[in-house]
Amino acid sequence: MTAFEPVPSYYAASANPTPPRPALQGQVDADVCVIGAGYTGLSTALFLAEAGYKVVVLEAASVGWGASGRNGGQIVNSYSRDLDAIEKQASPGNLKLLAEMAFEGAQIIRQRVKDYAIDCDLKEGGVMAAITNQQLKHLETQQTLWQKYGYDQLDLLDAKGIRSVVDSERYVGGVLDHTGGHIHPLNLALGEAAALESLGGQIYEHSAVTQIKPGEPVELVTAQGSVKARFAVVAGNAYLGDLLPQLASKSMPCGTQVITTEPLSNEQAARLIPQDYCIEDCNYLLDYYRLSGDKRLIYGGGVVYGARDPADIERIIRPKMQKTFPELAKIKVDYAWTGNFLLTLSRLPQMGRIGSNIYYSQGCSGHGVTFTHVAGKSLALAIQGQAERFDAFASLPHYPFPGGRLFRVPFTAMGALYYNLRDRLGI
Ligand SMILES: Cc1cc2nc3c(=O)[nH]c(=O)nc-3n(C[C@H](O)[C@H](O)[C@H](O)COP(=O)(O)OP(=O)(O)OC[C@H]3O[C@@H](n4cnc5c(N)ncnc54)[C@H](O)[C@@H]3O)c2cc1C
Repeated sequence: MTAFEPVPSYYAASANPTPPRPALQGQVDADVCVIGAGYTGLSTALFLAEAGYKVVVLEAASVGWGASGRNGGQIVNSYSRDLDAIEKQASPGNLKLLAEMAFEGAQIIRQRVKDYAIDCDLKEGGVMAAITNQQLKHLETQQTLWQKYGYDQLDLLDAKGIRSVVDSERYVGGVLDHTGGHIHPLNLALGEAAALESLGGQIYEHSAVTQIKPGEPVELVTAQGSVKARFAVVAGNAYLGDLLPQLASKSMPCGTQVITTEPLSNEQAARLIPQDYCIEDCNYLLDYYRLSGDKRLIYGGGVVYGARDPADIERIIRPKMQKTFPELAKIKVDYAWTGNFLLTLSRLPQMGRIGSNIYYSQGCSGHGVTFTHVAGKSLALAIQGQAERFDAFASLPHYPFPGGRLFRVPFTAMGALYYNLRDRLGI
C-alpha cells in the first residue's frame, strides 16, 4: 500500500466529519515542525500548542492514516515490555519516572476526550486473558509488579471470573484493568487534530517530508514547500521509511491485521462481552478484540508479512475469531485491513534527539495507544526545557537489528516463529 491509498477500514467508514487539509505550498516558519499526524505527532503538537508554541504538522497522507487510525483501539497500560524489563535497564531515578508514566497515557487520553469533547466511543475497562495456567501465573506476577509501583487497578479473574466478562471457553483466567478501555482510534486522532487547530496549530496533509536539512533553524522539505523551525519532531514511526537511516536501522515495520464483522444482535453482543470491555490474550502473537460503538466485533491478531488483500486478511484472522467465539462461524465480515507498527529489538520504545533540535520517538512495538500520548507530553516538555521525562526514555538502550537492514525481516520473522512456538507449547 502506498502512502496515499485510502485504508479500507471500519474506522475510515465510520469516521467523524473532518475538513480536507491543504498540502504545504511555499515556505512557512514555525517554532516546531512535527512530521506525522498520528498520536505521537498530534499529541506532541497539542501539548506544545497548549503551551503557546506555533506548531506545524506535516503529514504524508491524512490525519490518522497510519497505525493511529487503524489500530485495535485498546487502551493498555505500561509498555510493550513490562516494568520488570525496565528495572534491569534504568537507574533508580529513571525507573521511578518511567513507572509513573507507564500508567499516565490512559489518563492523558481521557483528559483529551473530556477537555476537547472528542466523540470516539470511549469505553472503560480492559481485560488480559490467559490461555494457559502459566500465563495466568504471569498475570499474578504482573499484578504484584504494578502494585509495587503504586498501581492498584488490576483485579485477578479466575476461570469463572473471566467467563463472566467474555463468553469464550479459551481462557483459564485473566485480569481486569479498570483504567484500560477502548476507543474508536481514528476518531480520537481526528479529535486531537481538531483540538490542535482550535489552538492555532496548522496541519498540512499530502505533504511528505522528503528531506531534513539540519541547522538552526532546521528545515523540512516537501514536494512543494518547506518549513523552517527552531525544533523538529520526527513522528513517522513505521511509515517513516528511509528519511532518517539512523532510525530505520534500529527498528522494523511489522504488519498486523484486523477484521470487523457486521453488527451483532443486541442479545449476542451483551452475551459475548457483557461489560463491553476490550480483550487481549497473553500470547506473544496476541489476539485482540472488542465491540465497536455499533456492536460489531473488531478482531485483530498476529503479525503477518505481506498480507494486503482483504480476502487474505479474513482468511488469516477469521479462524482466530472463530476459535474464540465458535458461534460466529457464519457471521459476515464487512471490513478487513492491515496496518504497520514499529518493532524494536528490545520491544521498548526509542526516544531521542539528533543534534540539538531534531527530536524523535518511535517503536512502541504494537503497544502504542497510551505510550504515544506519554511520548507527546515528554517531547513537548523537553522542547520547553524540562527534559526529565525525555531523558528517562532516552536513557533506555537502542539496539540496531543484527545483520543490518537487509536481514531485519528474516531475523524477526524467525523470532516471531520462535515465540509462536513458545506460545503453543505453553512455555
Ligand atoms: C493494526 C494495528 C493494531 C494495533 N492495535 C493496538 C492496540 O489495540 N493498542 C495499542 O496500544 N497499540 C496498538 N497498535 C499500535 C499503535 O497503533 C501504534 O503504536 C501507534 O498508533 C503509533 O502512533 P504513531 O503516531 O507513532 O505512528 P502512526 O500512527 O503510524 O503515524 C505516523 C504518521 O507519520 C506519517 N509519516 C511518515 N513518514 C512521513 C513523512 N516523511 N512525512 C510526513 N508524514 C510522514 C504517516 O503517514 C503516519 O500518518 C496497533 C497497531 C496496528 C498497526
